Amino acid sequence: MTSEAVKALTRQYVMNTYGRFPVALDHGEGATLYDPEGRAYIDFTSGIGVTALGYGNRLWAEAVADQAGKLGHVSNLFYTEPPARLAELLCKRTGESAVFFANGGGEANEGMIKLARKYSFDKYGQGRSTIVTLENSFHGRTITTLKATGQDVFHNYFFPFTEGFRYAPANDLEALKDQDQGDVCAVMVELVQGEGGVLPLDKAYVKALEALCAGKDWLLLVDEVQTGVGRTGTLFAFQQYGILPDAVSFAKGIAGGLPMSGILANEKCKDVLGPGMHATTFGGNPVCAAAGLVVQEILSDEFLRQVREKGEYLRRGIEALNLPCFGKTRGLGLMIGIEVREGWTNKEIAAKLIENGLLVLTAGPGMRLLPPLVITKEEMDRGLAIMKKVLA
Ligand SMILES: *Cc1c(COP(=O)(O)O)cnc(C)c1O
Repeated sequence: MTSEAVKALTRQYVMNTYGRFPVALDHGEGATLYDPEGRAYIDFTSGIGVTALGYGNRLWAEAVADQAGKLGHVSNLFYTEPPARLAELLCKRTGESAVFFANGGGEANEGMIKLARKYSFDKYGQGRSTIVTLENSFHGRTITTLKATGQDVFHNYFFPFTEGFRYAPANDLEALKDQDQGDVCAVMVELVQGEGGVLPLDKAYVKALEALCAGKDWLLLVDEVQTGVGRTGTLFAFQQYGILPDAVSFAKGIAGGLPMSGILANEKCKDVLGPGMHATTFGGNPVCAAAGLVVQEILSDEFLRQVREKGEYLRRGIEALNLPCFGKTRGLGLMIGIEVREGWTNKEIAAKLIENGLLVLTAGPGMRLLPPLVITKEEMDRGLAIMKKVLA
C-alpha cells in the first residue's frame, strides 16, 4: 500500500483520537525508519519510549517468532517460563522483590494504586485511601489514572472521576507535608516528568520524600512507565536517585515494542495483592516476556553507560547548534527535553523536522527526544544535521 492509501484507510476506519503527523511508516533498521515509498526518517521518538532496541533487531525478532511458534498464550492459571525468568531478572537487577505483569502503563498504575489502597486497608482499615501526586504529572488515560494525573486539562468530559487524589507542586517537601490530613496512603511520582515536559525531580527532594513516606507509612510509588528500562541510563531512574520505592510501575520499553507492563514491589508490599485481588488476562504473556528477556540481555551495565554517554553527546550537539528557536536542554540519559523560545511553537518545529526526515516529540511547551537506546553516533549526527538545515 502507498502512504496515501494507508492514511486514507486509517482516516476512514480508525477513530480519530490522535493528532497524527502525515507520515506512514513501513519498516526500520536501527534508529532509522522508512515509509512505504522507501523514504528514510531518523527516529528520535522510539514509538514514545518503546522501541529501546530500535527496529529490525534479529535477536528480538527471533525470540518473538520462536516463542510465538511454541506457545503464544495460556493464562495465569498455569505456569510459563518466560515471565518467571523476566520477573527474576527485574528483581535481581533492582533490589525489588516481586512483579505483577500487565499490558500498558495506565493499567500498571491502576494496579499500583490498588496495591497502595489495599496495603493501607489491611493495616489501618478504611479512610486512608488518598494518593498525593505531583502537579504537571502524567499517569495514564483510564478514569482513575486521568484523575491521578496532576493537570486540570485531563479532568474533563468523563465525569465522574475516581475520588481520592490530591496534588502537590514538585520539589516542594513542605507542600507535601501539608497534605497530611490523616487520609493519605501513598505518594506517586515520576522521577522525570515525561509528558509534562521532561522535568527531572531534584535528588535532595526525592531522598527527603522517601524519608517522609517511610516516617508516615505512606507508600512511595514511582511511575517509571517512561523513565524505566534503560531510558535514563540506568535500568530504572530510581537507581540514580539512591532510593528503593515501595512499588514501581514500568511499561513502554520493557518488551522492546510489544505491549507489556507491570509493577515491581518491595519486600513490604510484595504480598499485598493475593489470589483473586488483581488480575489481567494477557498479563505476563509469554511472547511479550520472551521479547522482554532479549531487552534485559542487551541492556548490560556497559550498554547503559553508553546510553548516558549518548545522551550527553546529543544534548551537547543540540546546544552547540545554537538554533534561534531552542533554549536549554535538560533530562537524563536518552530522555531529553529542549526549551522552545518565545516566538516559536513546539508543534510547528516538530512538523518541520518530521517533514524533513527527523521524527521528534513534544512535551509540555518544549521538545522531547526519546531515541532508540541503540542509536548510533552517525544516526545522531544525521539528526543534528537535519535540525541545523531546517531550523538555523
Ligand atoms: C505513557 C505513560 C503512561 C501511560 O501508559 P500507557 O501505556 O499509554 O497506558 C503512564 N505514565 C507515564 C509516566 C507515561 O509516560
